[in-house]
Amino acid sequence: MQDASKTHFRIAIVGTGFSGLGAAIRLKQAGFDDLVLFERATDVGGVWRDNSYPGAACDVESHLYSFSFAPNPRWSNAFSRQPEIHAYLRDCAQRFHVLPHVRFRHTVREAAWSEADKRWEIETDRGTFTADFFLPAVGALSDPLIPELPGIEKFQGKTFHSARWDHGYDLTGKKVAVIGTGASAVQFIPEIQPKVQKLSLFQRTPAWVLPRWDERFSERQKHAFGAMPALQKLVRTVIYYRRELFMVGFRNPRVMKLVERYARGYLKRTVKDPVLREKLTPDFRIGCKRILITADYLPALTQPNVDVITSGIREIRERSIVTTDGVEHEVDTIIWGTGFHVMDLPFADHVRGRDGRTLNESWAGSPSAYLGTTVVGFPNMFFLMGPGTGLGHTSVILMLESQLRILLGALSHMQNQQLDIVEPRSEVQTRFFDWIQKEAQGTVWTAGGCASWYLDANGKLTSLWPHGTMAYRNRARFRPDEYVMSRRPGREQQLMAAE
Ligand code: NAP
Repeated sequence: MQDASKTHFRIAIVGTGFSGLGAAIRLKQAGFDDLVLFERATDVGGVWRDNSYPGAACDVESHLYSFSFAPNPRWSNAFSRQPEIHAYLRDCAQRFHVLPHVRFRHTVREAAWSEADKRWEIETDRGTFTADFFLPAVGALSDPLIPELPGIEKFQGKTFHSARWDHGYDLTGKKVAVIGTGASAVQFIPEIQPKVQKLSLFQRTPAWVLPRWDERFSERQKHAFGAMPALQKLVRTVIYYRRELFMVGFRNPRVMKLVERYARGYLKRTVKDPVLREKLTPDFRIGCKRILITADYLPALTQPNVDVITSGIREIRERSIVTTDGVEHEVDTIIWGTGFHVMDLPFADHVRGRDGRTLNESWAGSPSAYLGTTVVGFPNMFFLMGPGTGLGHTSVILMLESQLRILLGALSHMQNQQLDIVEPRSEVQTRFFDWIQKEAQGTVWTAGGCASWYLDANGKLTSLWPHGTMAYRNRARFRPDEYVMSRRPGREQQLMAAE
């Protein structure tokens, strides 16, 4: 157990989701043991702790959506459910001895680089800490977004967001409004539809849906994965390459027409009512927004107690929602499936660099980090799963593990060269940002005809990596000439004295 009174650390990580835990494990394995993880909750797990709504599952197969260094032969399904993924993360935290480094119930309020002391000052609700290196691992999907709809404060019924599910509230027999039709809503709707009296689904934009071909692993299969790690690795590799194929289509939207034809056929087979089908047919190229992978969502929408409402929401009243066509929909519960603050990441308002500006101020609407990791003006900060590392087709843990090579490369180089401070060269970060924008041109995300949170307020692709994960892996190395590095003043004198 760490000394509880310790307030200075070599490395401070914020968050204990996949990225925070992955970083801590890799750092410890490389000998960087003086680290702390700040966690606002009482348990590890990040989004896989918070998103416990009914039906929560990963739409990437678990044999790929897991750490390469911690394979789990005992996944129950090809696509694991949230409790199992959460349990996996807890197990990793314990097995790799990360838990003693975690300060639970510590919400980071502000983190600022002190140019005078050449270190980070981190203010939490339980005291102030300092660190040489600062690693935000807060993810883009940590702060629920609830739209400011007119009259929202008047509503007398129950409301909650999908990422803050109220498990104590019984939905049986209720008139429930679900707002949003994203990756979360399509997972919980089939679970709650049979229970509720009426489900009014307020859909702003229909999404393309592909069926999820899930498989339950038998005890024999699990045993085989455990006994033959090479078999599990082979399965992982096959999933990996099958998913990478999507990138061909994402980069060539015309190819996606084939996938779209398949999705259209699936919709036609599943939804017989032409009026409902019309409502559920997107008008943009498949892949422009995240493709929804679910076999239960469309069938649930065909049930008699479900109403798909496509008129916009005009106002919310005490016990109803009024749409722009003047219809008043009576509801006693509103569930927000409206996603997260992705582009206006609240955490980025609380991280200040050398000149005192916050990340959001310095980004001015277009988040940018070299290789999604380091930011000019924010020395010794390594952003985990930062801007430009998101994916629409495969496991983001692949990106994280590549990114950790940059971090470890930097720390090892600095240790060997007795350097203390690092940040990317301004021209390197700018060139990288421009390259991403160039590569984004003509892809399904910019030319697919949709509005999505993949694009920022300035219309730039800043959340996604525009190529396959192999391309990122090839670039994700620490190259000293791309960074400005220096020593802290005292260190220079010490070295001279030693010579
Ligand atoms: P989301 O994809 O951002 O979807 C939000 C939904 O709410 C959209 O349908 C959006 O409509 C709608 N919406 C937002 N504001 C609205 C408003 N003012 N009025 C009406 N509708 C509104 O959020 P999410 O479903 O929570 O998913 C977020 C991300 O979590 C996903 O993209 C994915 O990366 C991740 N996720 C992953 C999995 C997984 O299996 N790996 C599962 C769940 C979530 P528009 O489309 O018109 O904007």
